[in-house]
Amino acid sequence: MDDTRGMNDPQETMSEAAFLAQLRAAFSQMPNDIPIYMFVSRERDNIFAQTNRQIVRIFRELTSKITFREYPLDHDLARKWNVTHSPTLLIAPDRYAIRWLGAPMGEEGRTFLETMMMVGMGKSHLNEESKTVLNKIDSPRAVKIFVSPTCPYCPQQALNGIQAAIERPDLISLEIVDIQANPGLADQYSAHSVPQTFANEVLIGMGAQSQELFCASLKKLEPQSVFIPEVDAELVENDVVIVGGGPAGLTAGIYAVRSGLKTAIIERDALGGQVATTPIVENYTGFSQVGGKNLVDIMVSHALQYTQIFQGEAVLDITPGNPMAVQTSRRRFHTRAVLLATGATHKHLGVPGETRFAGKGVSYCSTCDGPLFVGKKVIMVGGGNSAVTEALHLHHMGVKVTLVHRRDALRAQDVLVGHLKSAGIPILWNTEVKEIQGKKSVEAVLLINNQTGKTTTLPVKGVFLAIGYQPAVDLAQKIGVELTAEGYIRHDRHRTNVPGVYSAGDVEGGYKQIVTASGQGAESAMAIFEDLINPYWQTRKEL
Ligand SMILES: Cc1cc2nc3c(=O)[nH]c(=O)nc-3n(C[C@H](O)[C@H](O)[C@H](O)COP(=O)(O)OP(=O)(O)OC[C@H]3O[C@@H](n4cnc5c(N)ncnc54)[C@H](O)[C@@H]3O)c2cc1C
Repeated sequence: MDDTRGMNDPQETMSEAAFLAQLRAAFSQMPNDIPIYMFVSRERDNIFAQTNRQIVRIFRELTSKITFREYPLDHDLARKWNVTHSPTLLIAPDRYAIRWLGAPMGEEGRTFLETMMMVGMGKSHLNEESKTVLNKIDSPRAVKIFVSPTCPYCPQQALNGIQAAIERPDLISLEIVDIQANPGLADQYSAHSVPQTFANEVLIGMGAQSQELFCASLKKLEPQSVFIPEVDAELVENDVVIVGGGPAGLTAGIYAVRSGLKTAIIERDALGGQVATTPIVENYTGFSQVGGKNLVDIMVSHALQYTQIFQGEAVLDITPGNPMAVQTSRRRFHTRAVLLATGATHKHLGVPGETRFAGKGVSYCSTCDGPLFVGKKVIMVGGGNSAVTEALHLHHMGVKVTLVHRRDALRAQDVLVGHLKSAGIPILWNTEVKEIQGKKSVEAVLLINNQTGKTTTLPVKGVFLAIGYQPAVDLAQKIGVELTAEGYIRHDRHRTNVPGVYSAGDVEGGYKQIVTASGQGAESAMAIFEDLINPYWQTRKEL
């Protein structure tokens, strides 16, 4: 998704009835029918097949353009379309090669809706850059994207696949594979983290990609990490560009627009930043307990009432000056101020096997990848709030989790430690991971007790890591922003040493909480407002 334009009237929130009416109207404008076929084996009429029936029924109540037919897996049509998994949904199979293995549950519901809309319109809505790349593909691409219903990064990648399959139906076919419904297939591809994307059986993407990077990876049949946009990319004039759509960036967006500043938030991955993958939040004022993704949805809806958000777009470069130039993977901005709210990214353990088995049993996101390990033994490495929260999440999901901590006491808050004890999650104290072992995917970990020196091999299917976060300061460093000795952005009431460049949230260090990041976002936006009226970097003489 790109350019999610906000409404200007803060009072204007859309009720469910208004939303459904808008969907009905949108479907009625569509030129194309949307035939859906479901194939189910006679033995496996399970929760996934039932969910598909329910989801399609809800959409069919909105439009007669959607038709639904169901067939057994041994039907002639299954042979004609080469359907082998149950349940499988085929969408407009005479026009496109798009299929869902499993059901579009949870986060994927949104993707399914967008698929219906694009198939109905017969348009991919890809930008020109991406279309140019796809049009250069000259041989078939069979794409598989592994997703889970709880993964906030998956809809973006699934959407990339759908857009590509709609844009080039002659050469691109797509299977979206729900790992919960198809654990065997996920095992076969060693796809133990989501989203994971294969084309012609080659891994082309680990995690969500921008649409341009996805298209470039699909064309080259190898993962691409840089996409250089054309020089004549769209130019947008702004007062403030906020880099990062976590709590700091979203809050800053609200405050900046309320101060009368034309503002845009640019987010590379999932909106909400770290909160998008936080299972449960219990310390954000006003919510005694709220799912991280729910909190993000509330924050994003609020921010959208004021500010533009450009999602799935990375900020690649910033050229200080007046105005400053901000180059993203899709367009250029000229702006008077830049707020760096780039947050933090997870740390690596740095042991043998960690890189090799990333996505093949090594995971940094229990919310995303937990469903694949239900009933299996895993370890969670770490001893802080994140590790304990995520261990609890895995435990409640039905994963057999053991906490591995290098010290003899946890650093997590007492309330979380209490939950951990009540859940009876085993803890290996004074223990460090020396090596992650396996053939195609994780099979065991080599552990060492740092007090006794004794090593043990523990058979596990997964290694979840929550050993801390490091500030995302690459951009800051690139433009000469000074850092503290600990590597965070050095600032004076959110003003960095580079004129016009500000900071907020985890990237500044400090307490690293949602409520503090939000507060810093608000303060930073107010500092920007003050300075744009009275720039602090100009001397009185210059003024
Ligand atoms: C598992 C877990 C559990 C947690 N639990 C809690 C809790 O219970 N309570 C609590 O208060 N806090 C919790 N936290 C901490 C909290 O989530 C963070 O403090 C907060 O999200 C920081 O917000 P932020 O906006 O500064 O950064 P982030 O949330 O890290 O967001 C930064 C955003 O910037 C984006 N970005 C970075 N570089 C670029 C670029 N070049 N272009 C575009 N976008 C970019 C990133 O993709 C990211 O989305 C938890 C964190 C984790 C990981």
